[in-house]
Amino acid sequence: AKEHGGRQVRFFTEAMGRELLERHRLEVDLKQALERGELELYYQPIVDLGSGQPQGVECLLRWQHPEFGAISPDTFIPIAESSGLIQAIGTWVIETACRQLGDWQRRGWVLYASVNVSTRQIPDGVHPDWLSQLVSRLGLEPESLVLEITESLFASEIESVAAWLKAVRALGFKVYLDDFGTGYSSLSYLKNFPVDTVKIDRAFVRDMVEQERDRTLIRAIMAMCHELSLQVVAEGIENAVQRQLLSDLDCAYGQGYLFSRPLPATELEAFLSRHET
Ligand code: C2E
Ligand code: CA
Ligand code: CA
Ligand code: CA
Repeated sequence: AKEHGGRQVRFFTEAMGRELLERHRLEVDLKQALERGELELYYQPIVDLGSGQPQGVECLLRWQHPEFGAISPDTFIPIAESSGLIQAIGTWVIETACRQLGDWQRRGWVLYASVNVSTRQIPDGVHPDWLSQLVSRLGLEPESLVLEITESLFASEIESVAAWLKAVRALGFKVYLDDFGTGYSSLSYLKNFPVDTVKIDRAFVRDMVEQERDRTLIRAIMAMCHELSLQVVAEGIENAVQRQLLSDLDCAYGQGYLFSRPLPATELEAFLSRHET
């Protein structure tokens, strides 16, 4: 039994070692990914659930690794966060999103762009004055830039994040609370942080057709947001039944594969052209 246990321990250690090595490799590669142009933004429309018309786009990061192919942001964002690379990557994301949005607005599309902001980037990586200068340099209204923030806050960060939130909203930027209903992005978050909109996590939307309980939770979230004068965006809408149920619950906005997957810029332009009124 002892020998068996020993083998198990050794096996476990090797697996952990491999994981650490992979992680280190990705961290080293991620450092160069920016310079080598391996990062790209994809854009997913956020639509009015009644009309289906696009209102904005969520900007989602993609990494095409030269050897491993496409790597999910769920894999490399945590590495970027723990290594500090998230600062440089986050700056690139916001600058790229704003330049692209300026281009689309000049071509007549009325849109906003929302970018995901890790709390690790706050406040220095997304300084309110820097954001202000960036949008004015590009001729954008601050209202057309949305900052989506999510979870994983330590108690020690609450004050600095709250101060940052106040400052960016005072400058006219919009703040959305992402993944609402999961993890830390819950009621205590709304208590401490004034936001404009909450995004209902796709875990609730996924099962809402089959599960009465999930519909009830969404109904309760809608009622609460209504009382707090918060807008709501539902994530992960994949079929017409979900869309109809959400509309019936007075959810005004949504995104998901039913409308469009996240798309490269040129394909998003084709989507926008198809939806011109
Ligand atoms: P998120 O912000 O919650 O983004 C929504 C995720 O749901 C995206 O995954 C999107 O592709 C996916 N999605 C959208 N509609 C549907 C649907 O109908 N069904 C299903 N099953 N999935 C849908 P993605 O692009 O893989 O991004 C994963 C996460 O990585 C994001 O979750 C976000 O937390 C993070 N992320 C992505 N880009 C950035 C970035 O630029 N900065 C930071 N800090 N995080 C990012
Ligand atoms: Ca998001
Ligand atoms: Ca989300
Ligand atoms: Ca997320």
